[in-house]
Amino acid sequence: MKRLRVNIPGRAYDIVIGAGLLRSAGTLMRDAIPCMRAFVVTDGNVAPLYGETLRAALWSEGIETTLLTVPPGEGSKSEAVLFELYDKMLEAQITRGDVIAALGGGVVGDLAGYAAATLLRGIPFVQIPTTLLAQADSSVGGKVAINHPRGKNLIGAFHQPKLVLADTDTLKTLPARELACGMAEVIKHGAIADADLFSFLEEGTPDYADIIGRNCDIKRRVVETDEFDTGGRFILNFGHTFGHAIEAQGGFLRYNHGEAVSVGMVTAAVLGEKLGVTKPGTSERLRGILTLHGLPVTSGETPDWSLALSDKKRDGDTLRLVLLKEIGEAVLYPIDANKLLELLQ
Ligand code: ADP
Ligand code: ZN
Repeated sequence: MKRLRVNIPGRAYDIVIGAGLLRSAGTLMRDAIPCMRAFVVTDGNVAPLYGETLRAALWSEGIETTLLTVPPGEGSKSEAVLFELYDKMLEAQITRGDVIAALGGGVVGDLAGYAAATLLRGIPFVQIPTTLLAQADSSVGGKVAINHPRGKNLIGAFHQPKLVLADTDTLKTLPARELACGMAEVIKHGAIADADLFSFLEEGTPDYADIIGRNCDIKRRVVETDEFDTGGRFILNFGHTFGHAIEAQGGFLRYNHGEAVSVGMVTAAVLGEKLGVTKPGTSERLRGILTLHGLPVTSGETPDWSLALSDKKRDGDTLRLVLLKEIGEAVLYPIDANKLLELLQ
C-alpha cells in the first residue's frame, strides 16, 4: 500500500493506493474521519461490482452504508440527479457528522463531491475512485462540479476530500477504452512533469499502483501550490485547449475526453516545434507512446480550431497555451489568438 499526504493547510488528507484496498475501507475511513453513517454515491455499472464489498468493509467498523445509485455517464452530472440525491439524503436526515463517499469514476466523483460541498453547507467527503482517470487524476485536487446546459462543469466548488482510497484491483473490470482514456492523462502528467514516468510508459504495460502513485504525487504538488486554480495548476491544461475543441466538434460523442486530449497533446507538440519552443522529435515521441496505449493521434476530420479560441483560459485576444520545452517540462506560452489560427492552418 502506498500512502501520500496532500498538505493543504487545515485540509490535509491522505491518498492511499493499493490492490484489494476496498476490503480495508472501514479501517481506512475510521482513521481519516470518524463517522457512523456513509452515503455512498455510485453508478449502475459500479454498484453491482463493488457496492457490497464496500458496504461489508464499512460495516465491519460499525459504519452503516446507504448506497445511492445513479445512471452511468456524464448525463448524471445534472441538476435533476443532484436534487434527487439531496432529497434522499435529507429524507434520511443526513448531518455534518455523516460522510458522503463517491464510489466510481470521475462522473460520480464530481457529482457526489458537489453534493457534499453544498448540502448543509458542506459534509465530509471521501473519494473511492474506480477508473484510471479518477485514480490518477480527477479524485485529487478538490474540484467538484455538475454540468449546465451551456457547458460542462460550470456549476462547481472546491471541496477537498478527507481521504482518497484507490483500489487498483477495480481497474481489472474497466473497459479497455476507459483505461486508454485515463492513460491519456497519465501520459500528460509524464509529458509535463515526469520524464521518467514517460519513459516507463514508452516501454509498454505499466504497474498501475506505481503509475497512480507517481501521478497523484505530481497532482499533489501542483494542488498544494495552487489549491484554487489561480496559476500553478495551469500546466495540467496541456493538450486540453485543442482537446476541448476536438471534443466539442464531435458533439462530445465521437471522442471521449482522453482521446481528444491525446490528439490535443500531439497538436500542441507539433505547434511547439514549429514555434521553436519544443525540442524537435517531441511530437514523434508523443505519437509513439499514445499509439502504443491505444489512443488516437489525429482527429480524422479537419478540426475547427476556432472552437479552441473560446477556451475559458483566455485573456482578451491572448490565449495562454501550455507547450512543452521537452518531455518532462512544460512552459506557459501566451499567444495571439489570430496568430495561433494562422499557425494551425
Ligand atoms: P471517468 O472516470 O472516465 O471520468 P465515468 O465516471 O463516466 O468516467 O466512468 C466511465 C465508465 O466506466 C462509466 O460507464 C462507469 O460506470 C464505468 N466504470 C467505472 N469504474 C468501473 C470499473 N471499475 N469497472 C467497470 N466499469 C467501471
Ligand atoms: Zn483532462
